[in-house]
Amino acid sequence: MILGVVRNLDQNGRVQIPIEMREKLNLDRDLPLNVYEENGKIIISPVSPVVRKMCVVCGVIEVRTDREVCTRCMNRKGIFG
Ligand SMILES: [Zn+2]
Repeated sequence: MILGVVRNLDQNGRVQIPIEMREKLNLDRDLPLNVYEENGKIIISPVSPVVRKMCVVCGVIEVRTDREVCTRCMNRKGIFG
């Protein structure tokens, strides 16, 4: 059994996905996720396939679903607003 990060469900049934996992898979806010149950486990995965892409600004290759710019460039102030 793989023991990951332990999180509690809140009163509305929500659970927070750890920031490390969100960054690794580049799960941005409002990204559609597929949630289903399988053999007693809850599976959450991006609706769109996750692929590795090269950033058009800096050339870094990272996992992204749809953007052409990496997370670092996206978060840099002044480049995208
Ligand atoms: Zn970049």
